[in-house]
Amino acid sequence: MTTAAVTTNAGPDAARPVNLIGLPRAALEQFFAELGERPFRAVQVMKWLHHRGADDFASMTDLSRVLRARLEEMAVVAMPEVMTENVSTDGTRKWLMGLDDGQRIEVVFIPEKDRGTLCISSQVGCALDCSFCATGKQGFNRNLTTAEIVGQVRQASRRLQGVVTDRDRAITNIVLMGMGEPLLNFDAVLPAIDILLDDLGYGISKRRLTLSTAGVVPAILRLAEVTDVALAISLHAPDDTLRDQLVPINRRYPIAELLDAVRTYLGKLGDWRSVTIEYTLMDGVNDSLEQAEALANLLTDLRERSKINLIPFNPFPGSGYRRPSEARVRAFQTHLLERGFATMLRTTRGEDIDAACGQLAGNFEDRTRRRERYIARLKDHGVITHQTV
Ligand code: SAH
Repeated sequence: MTTAAVTTNAGPDAARPVNLIGLPRAALEQFFAELGERPFRAVQVMKWLHHRGADDFASMTDLSRVLRARLEEMAVVAMPEVMTENVSTDGTRKWLMGLDDGQRIEVVFIPEKDRGTLCISSQVGCALDCSFCATGKQGFNRNLTTAEIVGQVRQASRRLQGVVTDRDRAITNIVLMGMGEPLLNFDAVLPAIDILLDDLGYGISKRRLTLSTAGVVPAILRLAEVTDVALAISLHAPDDTLRDQLVPINRRYPIAELLDAVRTYLGKLGDWRSVTIEYTLMDGVNDSLEQAEALANLLTDLRERSKINLIPFNPFPGSGYRRPSEARVRAFQTHLLERGFATMLRTTRGEDIDAACGQLAGNFEDRTRRRERYIARLKDHGVITHQTV
């Protein structure tokens, strides 16, 4: 096999058999073309993999015996394995999923009255080190492959079968808001998006598939060239001085450049779609009315094209931040509403199982030594007396 698309998506070790879960329709068609098979084999196999959840080629009874045997030799069907499942009192589910190399990631399902949102991870850990995020504090290990990203959705839908019987509440929305910065794993994330949107894959609407980024400006511009899924920006501060501290990538791509990239992306979304601005509220850090006013001024020209999503800070051990009082959160929201911004308060879900935003830590080996420093800091603060994290 010679195609780059097939081999680069095969996994960390490209010498291994290709995992067909990670091939978008075009790559799968090419895969079959190289086997001398007709393109509609891709249609058949995608239905088996993503709709019927087949785990082996033997069960794909509309393929010839010969083809099934060939696939058995050169390809695999594999997905992350569920290690533990936690169910919150509010119905939120969190799975710890294990990968081939022993790394662990977390995936969260949030049921609501009229929809079900799956929050998936794009990397093992995260390199961006945002000061208020549990994942960031623990360091970075590696990028996920396309198959591992899609595999989270496939595994979650399987786990929800029989649990969520109401079709309306199964997975209707997917957010790339779990562990990792999706735009720093662009080449694996993009084909995953393709499969999630494809009717032969998971048939998620582009308005219900949201990529959230801390602001990797060149990658936002690149994204605008190739897709128009929903975009969320983790802003968290109305000025560069504060944002430099909270979201260190701001030192490289400051707010003005970030908002320019957002304007470019909006240009691709058409006139009536908007971008989500995420703002995690931390007590005494970024939650004053002056800061609400500064945020409104900063976003003035985007008022009709943005929705502000306020997320009260979710605590984790040794974070050093606190959640503001409800009154303060409401006052911040009210100020933005009065300035004419569609402003939602994101209710915290799954807090009792550490499934809320910024609490996903998985359990992985860090390659940045950040985890070591984090643990040392917890000990300094007396949060832990022996190694429990
Ligand atoms: N790296 C991407 C996606 C993952 S984070 C990004 O930065 O957008 C998903 C959202 O949760 C982000 O808006 C992030 O800033 C927010 N978040 C992180 N830690 C949090 C915490 N402790 N409490 C509340 N929100 C948090």
